Amino acid sequence: MKKLFILLLVFYTIACNSSFAKVISNEKIDSKKVDVAEKIILELQKEMSIYTQQGSGPFVAAIYDNNGNLIAKTSNSVVNDNCSNNHAEMNVIKEAEKKLGTYDLSKYNLSLYVTAEPCMMCLGGIMWSGIKNVYYGVPSKTVEKITGFDEGFKPNWFKEFKKRGIIVYGNIKPSIGEKELYNYVNNGEKLYKPER
Ligand SMILES: [Zn+2]
Repeated sequence: MKKLFILLLVFYTIACNSSFAKVISNEKIDSKKVDVAEKIILELQKEMSIYTQQGSGPFVAAIYDNNGNLIAKTSNSVVNDNCSNNHAEMNVIKEAEKKLGTYDLSKYNLSLYVTAEPCMMCLGGIMWSGIKNVYYGVPSKTVEKITGFDEGFKPNWFKEFKKRGIIVYGNIKPSIGEKELYNYVNNGEKLYKPER
């Protein structure tokens, strides 16, 4: 009976943790890549509130090279810059390209990590940049549910990226990111979007 209770308790603990959410990918899941991505995305999620306190939007992205060196890290800066294009992914790509002095990142085999699934615009930005690997935390459906942002229409984007040589891993440790998005909304921060 005691054993059963402990087992149930363990199961309950796992089930209640949304990091239990299944990682999805457009390749056969490589657990080493997932381990690295979990560490990086957790760090980025923890930094979300630092950026939002400075007026940034609630998304953070980083680009790393193959050896684990950080190339660039930025947040969303739509409101601060008065620029609807300045999502975290677009900003971090711009910063990496400036740093490396090129418009084509493909030869560097870089990985982009971001706290939430890229929107329709950022998918285009990623495709044009030559980024080879994308890892994200909170899925778009959850972002839309929490914030009301419209992430756009992205049919079969995992498959389309694969055709273009871009590997994607999603739903990586989304729980802290979700919590930070709820905090952003509950704190009454700006929910920037065009009027319909
Ligand atoms: Zn975006």
